[in-house]
Amino acid sequence: MKPIVAVVGRPNVGKSTLFNKIAGQRIAIVEDTPGITRDRIYADAEWNGREFTLIDTGGIEPSGGDVILSQMREQASLAIDMADVILFMVNVRDGMTAADSEVAAMLQKCGKPVLLVCNKVDNPGSPPMAMYEFYNLGMGDPYPVSSTHGLGLGDLLDEVVAYF
Ligand code: GDP
Ligand code: MG
Repeated sequence: MKPIVAVVGRPNVGKSTLFNKIAGQRIAIVEDTPGITRDRIYADAEWNGREFTLIDTGGIEPSGGDVILSQMREQASLAIDMADVILFMVNVRDGMTAADSEVAAMLQKCGKPVLLVCNKVDNPGSPPMAMYEFYNLGMGDPYPVSSTHGLGLGDLLDEVVAYF
């Protein structure tokens, strides 16, 4: 069986966009407003000759408050059960939220590799100041990426496949 890489994070951070970029096709539905992504979605992916299965844990993405948090907990436990490497996605536009902190704490306890991915860093060059608040999650260096522009994905994937 191929190693499994799961993407978790709040609705609208850009999980499905990253998934489609890495999978090389539009499989997951990208929502302009948080909405329904149906179920978890799988794709075969490959980086530097290393094959893996990518999972978008988006599920049915709710639009507010406690529902988001419970959905995120569910996504995180799915990823903890199934994945060999977990990508925890946040984004610089929205900044850090309480739900991010809670899910980060849950993921850190699982003992699996978790990489913090900071999406929507659309301009090449030095990352924006807004990225630095994510150090407060205690998950180490965030990987700045722009899923729509494909920036930063090489460095991220180098690190991902190093865990296989
Ligand atoms: P998900 O809910 O986490 O799966 O997020 P989606 O992939 O559906 O994306 C939510 C919105 O963010 C969509 O409008 C995307 O086009 C947008 N988006 C995703 N990645 C980026 C990015 O790197 N930069 C910018 N500016 N927008 C992005
Ligand atoms: Mg999605």
